[in-house]
Amino acid sequence: MSAHAFATQGQSYCPFMPVFGAPQVMFERGSGTELWDTDGKRYLDFLCGIAVTSLGHANPAVSAAICRQADTLLHVSNFFSNPAATRAAVQLTSLLGDATGHEGQVFFCNSGAEANEAALKLARKFGGRGRHAVVSAFGSFHGRTLAALAATGQPAKHEPFQPMPDGFRHVPFNDLAALEAAIDPTVAAVLLEPVQGEGGVVPADPPYLRDVRAMCDERGLLLILDEVQTGCARTGTWFGFQHAGVVPDVVTLAKAMGNGFPVGAVWAKREVAAVFQPGDHGSTYSGTAIATAAVSAVIDEMQRIDAPRLARERGAELSAALRSVPGVVEVRGAGLLLAVELADGIDAKSVYLAALDRGLVTNAVTGTALRLAPPLTVSSAEIAEAVAILTAVLQELRP
Ligand SMILES: *Cc1c(COP(=O)(O)O)cnc(C)c1O
Repeated sequence: MSAHAFATQGQSYCPFMPVFGAPQVMFERGSGTELWDTDGKRYLDFLCGIAVTSLGHANPAVSAAICRQADTLLHVSNFFSNPAATRAAVQLTSLLGDATGHEGQVFFCNSGAEANEAALKLARKFGGRGRHAVVSAFGSFHGRTLAALAATGQPAKHEPFQPMPDGFRHVPFNDLAALEAAIDPTVAAVLLEPVQGEGGVVPADPPYLRDVRAMCDERGLLLILDEVQTGCARTGTWFGFQHAGVVPDVVTLAKAMGNGFPVGAVWAKREVAAVFQPGDHGSTYSGTAIATAAVSAVIDEMQRIDAPRLARERGAELSAALRSVPGVVEVRGAGLLLAVELADGIDAKSVYLAALDRGLVTNAVTGTALRLAPPLTVSSAEIAEAVAILTAVLQELRP
């Protein structure tokens, strides 16, 4: 592992703004679950760039679609349409139509934060003047742009940037009474993750989500579900909300949707989407041909391989194996979005570093938990290899 990854590029100081901390490794190439660094060392990628490369690195179908589209047409602006965007929008509305029973419409954007920004603007326009507040949960993560940050239920992340935009309040996750108490006539929407990803891979209780849905119906509030991390088959269903059997009004997506090509989307039921009028929202890169060609290729490929089933089957296999590793006290999550809670006295950051050193990429999602999100195409042999590395690391680090 290079002590300072930039040295290999003949650069004496870090050319990036210091928002991410010093990178440990410079990755050069990937294929499926495997990654190679600039020294030629091989790694197993059990993080997928945070649940992004769900179809594996350099997926041939996705790469071919991106290359083909790059040779055909990249971008034309939203004054015009293009076949790639139209096809991706039809596929996405059809997937969400099947999952919700509702006709809906999508707006394409470039990231999860942008998808949530669009959803928050939709909620404000839906609520009308004086009814613009959005309630979200402590421990949530909705992105880094100002409104998405304000919705994010992590006060420490707000602190350096106060004052936050107005109209955001937070309640404890999985606590219906607290949510009900936070609703007043200024509230337009509730925004939740089906599994809090960045918050430590904490699933919403299915009965809680169903009660939230009922409360939103009673009070005329929109239920917005942030599926940026949980969507696109990651949890074993196309969307995380399907585990609870709830039907959201608005869904935001990004991460795995482009398998690494930057793209996001907000979907809303037709009558909700209809509150947006021409001029209300936009983005130069909304529905650009190259990004939406990637989206179509991802959906085609996920359908072809039945990615939700793979996430369920490999997820069951991985979590069962992890449960028998000494030093792991809890495995939580759904499908292939998992976290292992480590025994007392084991620090997740040390486990992450030791695993990385042995060629396994994971993430210390909290001080005491490691997040695992391998590609949905991961093999049983790769799962066994990763679990063996973690077992060795935990044996070494257990007090
Ligand atoms: C990653 C993430 C976001 C932010 O997505 P970006 O593409 O980084 O802007 C928002 N919500 C959830 C649940 C996420 O996991």
